[in-house]
Amino acid sequence: MTIGVLALQGDFEEHIHKLSCINVPAVEVRLPADLAGLAGLIIPGGETTTFRNLAESFGMIEPLREFGKRRALWGTCAGAIVLARDIGREQSVLGLMDISVERNAFGRQLDSFEVDLEIPALSPAQPPAFHAVFIRAPAIVRAGEGVEVLARLPDGTIVAARQKNFLATCFHPELTADDRIHRLFLEMVKASG
Ligand code: GLN
Repeated sequence: MTIGVLALQGDFEEHIHKLSCINVPAVEVRLPADLAGLAGLIIPGGETTTFRNLAESFGMIEPLREFGKRRALWGTCAGAIVLARDIGREQSVLGLMDISVERNAFGRQLDSFEVDLEIPALSPAQPPAFHAVFIRAPAIVRAGEGVEVLARLPDGTIVAARQKNFLATCFHPELTADDRIHRLFLEMVKASG
């Protein structure tokens, strides 16, 4: 089972490293042909507009949408924006997951922050909190029908959600040692195979 990590820009190397730590083969994906044979794909954090421009010039938008019809896709931070159906004033990028996100939702004052999140889906019985790193993060401001909310900030803001084969996290699980969200994604990959 090989997982792809979209490597057009952003922190794809950290995801590949994290997957290698749990013995999952991972490859960099830049072109449509790279998607062949992959069991799932991670879209890393980075910058949404740069991602959009590169994905368009590499002819990746439609192949990614097609991939998402059959396989598991996980977007972290900018990757979550890329997955979302509604991203505010701009046109959506892939528009696959029925969530609305607000880019840079935490403003300039709170450019980056870290917080411990309760994520019950990670394990059935009182799992330890997940230490989450947010960097110029989006917030999920609407979760559509069939979207399961996985984590909220103490003020109620949704920061992780799942819908069918799509997973969105507003924070960066690839930057900390905890591998539980990568493992959760692998479960989704197996279920979609
Ligand atoms: N602020 C970026 C955007 O809106 C996302 C930041 C990130 O991925 N760390 O595209």
